[in-house]
Amino acid sequence: MIEAHHSDRPYSEGRSNDRHNGERHHSDRHQKDRLHRPVLVLNASFEPINVCAARRALVLILKGVASAEEHSNLEVQSTRNRLNLPSVIRLHDYRRIPHQTRALSRKNILMRDRYTCQYCLKVLPASELTLDHVMPRSRSGGTSWENLVACCHHCNNRKGNRTPEEANMKLHKQPKPFSLHTSRHLMRLLARSDEQWRKYLFY
Ligand SMILES: [Zn+2]
Repeated sequence: MIEAHHSDRPYSEGRSNDRHNGERHHSDRHQKDRLHRPVLVLNASFEPINVCAARRALVLILKGVASAEEHSNLEVQSTRNRLNLPSVIRLHDYRRIPHQTRALSRKNILMRDRYTCQYCLKVLPASELTLDHVMPRSRSGGTSWENLVACCHHCNNRKGNRTPEEANMKLHKQPKPFSLHTSRHLMRLLARSDEQWRKYLFY
């Protein structure tokens, strides 16, 4: 991404929206904002595994645990020198990622399904969504990641005590546990704001 340097902006003082001229302002507030910016964390294998705050990323680099793969055009002032803030870091040692388990909750199911009814694909506020047991509970369908989906009230009523096939309703996709794949999807959403993340996430 090519970024213009707006060093001659007429009224650039004040608000914090100054990511283009990082070397000019070193007020505490700006520095604090910067240290909270999200940084993408890659495994030693270049696989994206996490997002952390810039402050944490700097600590990992200074500890020698990780190194910067990409830098932002922002700097922070430490006691001795200026540091370029990383936007992507990579761990030196490969870290085994345990099968990520998240609590089975209404909120997490809705989040996994992106607040989208899995039958009519309407995106709705949480208050207008319910959870549907794909295989009805009355027919020994379990309360599990694999059997629960976000569903609007209309579709839920229509489906009733039937399977999607019986109700002639198409389930958008087979539900799965909240996984690393899902969090990668969330990282992709975040990546819209940071071009430098893209090559690590879109493959
Ligand atoms: Zn629906």
